[in-house]
Amino acid sequence: MTDTKNKVAVVTGANRGIGFEIARQLGFKGYTVYACGRDENSLNQSVGMLTGEGHRVFPVVLDVRDPESIKSMREKLSDDEVRIDALVNNAAVLVDRNKSILELSRSEVMETLETNTIAPLMVTQALSDLLSEGSRVVMVSSTSGKFCAELEYWAPIYATSKTALNAITRQMAPELAKRNISINAVHPGWVKTDMGGDGAQKDVPKGAETPVWLATDVEETGKFWSDKKEISW
Ligand code: NAP
Repeated sequence: MTDTKNKVAVVTGANRGIGFEIARQLGFKGYTVYACGRDENSLNQSVGMLTGEGHRVFPVVLDVRDPESIKSMREKLSDDEVRIDALVNNAAVLVDRNKSILELSRSEVMETLETNTIAPLMVTQALSDLLSEGSRVVMVSSTSGKFCAELEYWAPIYATSKTALNAITRQMAPELAKRNISINAVHPGWVKTDMGGDGAQKDVPKGAETPVWLATDVEETGKFWSDKKEISW
């Protein structure tokens, strides 16, 4: 069994939903987790629950849309002399459910692309030199971003943001491979969170399972996964 005692993970959007559960499952695997969230109260509450379960988890305030916030998160980790073994870019928004692409406001488009696409790139860039050799980066994506014949139209800018996130994953893979770092995109499934809504079929722990597996166990890189199987882009 791999020794995970001194391993460190960073998870964005870890105060609720799938991100919270990813932090918890990494805690169960023995990782020290830097749990990032933009709302300090909500974050402290969630981290309190995880430390109460015995996990080693530290809160880091991070609004992924704010470059200054990314900078101070990086400074905190760097001050702590952290070497990162797993980075999970999980934070995202869905603001255009059932809207027409012809009617989206500029602010809906910008909020979605900044949070879901640009932020994972900027966070990964900012932490890139703190990633240890052999570490793993996970981009939490969605099959709504699949660029294929069955293109989904129910949330047009959310879907577009995930298509672009998948492209960024592919673009980053060869660069990170030079340092033996893997990066993969993952669809967690349709999961019962605030974003997934009432109709979702998958429990949150099951939704977190494949992202955690990619963050801890998988050596392949530049691929798209769901339920621990590779899927097409
Ligand atoms: P969720 O319950 O809505 O949680 C979203 C998380 O992202 C929250 O922690 C939220 O923080 C955080 N976040 C949003 N904007 C942020 C910002 N600017 N800075 C920092 N944090 C921010 O969503 P979820 O269902 O857990 O989704 C997690 C991931 O899975 C996302 O990437 C999503 O696209 C993907 N996904 C989910 C489903 C599903 O069915 N649930 C399906 C496919 C893919 P606040 O609490 O501060 O808002």
